[in-house]
Amino acid sequence: MTTTTTTTTEESGQGSDLAGEVRDWIERNWDPQLTVGEWWRRLADAGLAYSMWPSGVGGRGLSAGAARTVTEQLAAARVIAPPVGHVAATLAAPTILDHGTAEQINRFVPPIACGQASWCQLFSEPGSGSDLASVGTRAVRDGDEWIVTGQKVWNSGADSAQMGMLLARTDLDAPKHRGMTYFLIDMDQPGIEVRPLRQMNGMSSFCEVFISEARVGHDCILGELNGGWRIAQTTLAHERGSVSGRGATGLAQARSGTISGDVSLAASEIIARSARARTGGIAGGAVPTKMMLELARQFERAADPVTRQELARYYTQNKVNSWTMRRVAAAKGRLTGADGSMSKLATSRICQQSRDLAFSILGAATMLDGSDAPMRGDLQRVGLGSPGTRIGGGTDEVQLNVLGERGLGLPREPSDDADTPYRELRVGTQR
Ligand SMILES: Cc1cc2nc3c(=O)[nH]c(=O)nc-3n(C[C@H](O)[C@H](O)[C@H](O)COP(=O)(O)OP(=O)(O)OC[C@H]3O[C@@H](n4cnc5c(N)ncnc54)[C@H](O)[C@@H]3O)c2cc1C
Repeated sequence: MTTTTTTTTEESGQGSDLAGEVRDWIERNWDPQLTVGEWWRRLADAGLAYSMWPSGVGGRGLSAGAARTVTEQLAAARVIAPPVGHVAATLAAPTILDHGTAEQINRFVPPIACGQASWCQLFSEPGSGSDLASVGTRAVRDGDEWIVTGQKVWNSGADSAQMGMLLARTDLDAPKHRGMTYFLIDMDQPGIEVRPLRQMNGMSSFCEVFISEARVGHDCILGELNGGWRIAQTTLAHERGSVSGRGATGLAQARSGTISGDVSLAASEIIARSARARTGGIAGGAVPTKMMLELARQFERAADPVTRQELARYYTQNKVNSWTMRRVAAAKGRLTGADGSMSKLATSRICQQSRDLAFSILGAATMLDGSDAPMRGDLQRVGLGSPGTRIGGGTDEVQLNVLGERGLGLPREPSDDADTPYRELRVGTQR
């Protein structure tokens, strides 16, 4: 990646100078005839891909407020958003920026900022979900490399990921939290088999991953050997924030990664696709409030007192949650000690409310599917996917535990295995 193509007039990013600078830059650089990959490269070179990241790797070290100004200008120009991949920019890059060596940051972050790299999170196992510290996938040292064997599951986007954030056991004699290491592993190798799983909404967004003597370099350990728990906490904190976060409206989104991403498509194709989706598609896990109101009118339920009451409740929940998130952002994530859990929990509840309200408005039409269904089945797809929001990124119950312990200062959950060597435990796949 080269240095920025424009001069930053105000690195702190306050006020209209930054907005004007970004507008000028867009004027000179945006062209719908560019490929998506070339547009993303320009954004990254100018430090506008993820403007809060450091200079030279896709950002320019801006504050949250200044970064919002950048996003607003991009949205106002209706260009393509910075690269979104399943977890590359939301989890992998922030974790590497927090804990990586300079060599790791320069090697792994720029391809994410340019949308060339796709990543997946290899944490959960058949016997280790909420109790993540009990992962049993083993990594054994072999010279400059580690040999990894085990099974992961529920790994979003693993079938199109080039790299994985892997949590593996490296010391059986240490207690469970102290014998894990965080590796950055290449997914394209013979020892890794990825099998997509089918969900009840017909989609296939996550996979099971079988690892059999796969290899990863010693230089791909993130943080310290056996210090993976601390690094995993960083990833999970970013995950709670990303699950509850919302992108700016108006920005067309393209998929990153060279396996099934949009990098080689013309930007104009993505803009056209996004315009089509805006007339019927639902981007997140919940129906936007305006769209819900339209639906009630369309199905002649807007005058029904019970529906009106639920619409008001839904609107209020969304509004309160967006204000809470703004307070969290203003407090730099230090409002309660468990801000991510609070936002994630609220978002998960809104998704369940969205499903119940949309299905009650649709009535019998809820049973239709595909092109016969209202909005070509989008409401069913999102509604049937809603239980996933209660589980992915940590279940609602686990978020409540975090809120109780870190937010309210309640006593920690009792545990009798914190100092027991892992090999003596009956946990995870050792059961
Ligand atoms: C949409 C989606 C995407 C996902 N993506 C990924 C991914 O990319 N990578 C990845 O590694 N994993 C991913 N996961 C897996 C996810 O992190 C786990 O499913 C989750 O942590 C729960 O673990 P589990 O399924 O083993 O359930 P369990 O941990 O077995 O929980 C079962 C039930 O027990 C409850 N429970 C467990 N412990 C406690 C406790 N201490 N107190 C109170 N209640 C408790 C839970 O709330 C739950 O209701 C994803 C899951 C979903 C649904």
